Amino acid sequence: MKDALSVTDTLNGGPGDGGLRRYPHLFIGGEWVAPVDGGIVESIDPSTGHPWAAVAFGGPKDIDRAVSAAREAFEGPWRRMPGAERAALLRRFAELYRDFAAEMAVLETRDSGRAIRETRADIAAHYQWYQWFASLADKLSGRTIPIDDAVHCFTTRVPVGVVGAITPWNAPMLTTAWKVGPALAAGCTVVLKPAEQTPVTALELARLAQEAGLPPGVLNVVPGYGHDTGAHLVAHPGVNKIAFTGEGRTAKAILRNGAETLKRFSFELGGKSPHIIFKDADLEQAMNAATSSAWSVCGQSCALGSRVLVERPIYDRVVEAFAERATRVRVGMPLEDATHMGPQAHAEQLAKTLSYIDIGREEGAQLVTGGRRLDAGAFADGFFVEPTVFAGVNNRMRIAREEIFGPVASIIPFDGEDEAVAIANDTTYGLCAGLWTGDVGRAHRVSARIEAGIVWVNTYRYIRWSTPYGGFKSSGWGRENGIEALDNYLETRTTVISTTGRFPDSYAQ
Ligand code: NDP
Repeated sequence: MKDALSVTDTLNGGPGDGGLRRYPHLFIGGEWVAPVDGGIVESIDPSTGHPWAAVAFGGPKDIDRAVSAAREAFEGPWRRMPGAERAALLRRFAELYRDFAAEMAVLETRDSGRAIRETRADIAAHYQWYQWFASLADKLSGRTIPIDDAVHCFTTRVPVGVVGAITPWNAPMLTTAWKVGPALAAGCTVVLKPAEQTPVTALELARLAQEAGLPPGVLNVVPGYGHDTGAHLVAHPGVNKIAFTGEGRTAKAILRNGAETLKRFSFELGGKSPHIIFKDADLEQAMNAATSSAWSVCGQSCALGSRVLVERPIYDRVVEAFAERATRVRVGMPLEDATHMGPQAHAEQLAKTLSYIDIGREEGAQLVTGGRRLDAGAFADGFFVEPTVFAGVNNRMRIAREEIFGPVASIIPFDGEDEAVAIANDTTYGLCAGLWTGDVGRAHRVSARIEAGIVWVNTYRYIRWSTPYGGFKSSGWGRENGIEALDNYLETRTTVISTTGRFPDSYAQ
């Protein structure tokens, strides 16, 4: 992000506006409003390093307005609306999202640099998340608890209230769907703060919500900086819950900041997921998955299998196959159909990735391929890096322990199931894991011992609206997706009704 331009400059087409796509308004209470204490900020296209859009950023006062609007909508139409009606509105929203998906993909690619072939496939599926959560909106039933004839006891599921959704830049619209879908289905209202690097698509989402007829204030979108706008949202006493995807360090800051108001939190944080390949695996298929899960999203996804654990007899073959496949990865301009891998999403992430590549070398890992920034010709000002492979990695090295978030695979050898499990679990993270084997017994034995929120066997990164997703250990709190996602947005009220109306006098004797 560059410094904020003056609002009037941008709105009036003055300096700094040349050729930029303009988003001069926030979406609050069903209206498009200029920021009160924010400004207009340029969003950088990571493939060129130059601005491509000028976007309204809100400040704390804008968050105050958005929270008031969300509260009003919560107390007003939304929480009281019959679930079936909420579902119908969400289905309409899902249809509009589906119809706009191709354009949304282009916008996400401009903002995040993710290759268009990836954003197209990804975003084309998002409407199914919204549809699926819509289908849950009228099924928020509690249960009856049998005790005895003297009481009738039951639970009711009630929406938690106003939700602050704080999203990252790597997969902005997917992580948004994972929060906005279940929150709205549960009867909550939302203030969405997208990442500073990728604000555009969230504002387009607001437009779809408006067109779908969601009541004013049900979804509010306030782009802004995390340390200021995001922090104000977290501390706000009118917000009941924060749903966050991002870095663990940020989650800890959010927890401290939100402690005073004892909000609810759900966190989807990082990963250093083991992708385990046993010698009895179908190696061709395993390589398809292992290379894809090393380099997709330019390595910028918490779900990727950045630690590739390989049984020693096939270790050299796997390293060779990684090197060969790296030559087939087409790094290029992200809007071109042929491109497999675009740039890193922003300059800081590029610097972080390159610094980890240096760390890997210094730690004594063997750089098999890649490792350099690509900055010749059309790549000159973009944030491109080569697909990178380190062999001879051991699990004590920082490149095996810390989340790089770049297209860097670390290949680690192991001997037998016990060692595979020990290495896989020797991490503070616990988000995902993959394992490849031809032995169904081993598939069960090993997957049952892995400390991760999701384990894939003979596949990888299979994620749907209905599959719960979230982390053990420091990878997060709570689950997104699946019916479990609703737990993040609902409180349980237990009601106990006496059928006799009698209550003993404690002081009779
Ligand atoms: P952050 O955790 O800082 O950002 C995620 C979101 O949180 C953004 O919207 C950000 O706003 C906001 N935020 C930042 N600070 C605060 C705060 N104090 N209060 C409220 N909201 C805040 O991640 P980064 O963008 O800095 O990425 C750093 C690293 O985090 C990556 O290299 C990667 O390792 C990891 N990461 C993991 C993700 C995942 O999917 N689990 C996603 C993204 C990153 P703003 O954009 O202004 O900073």
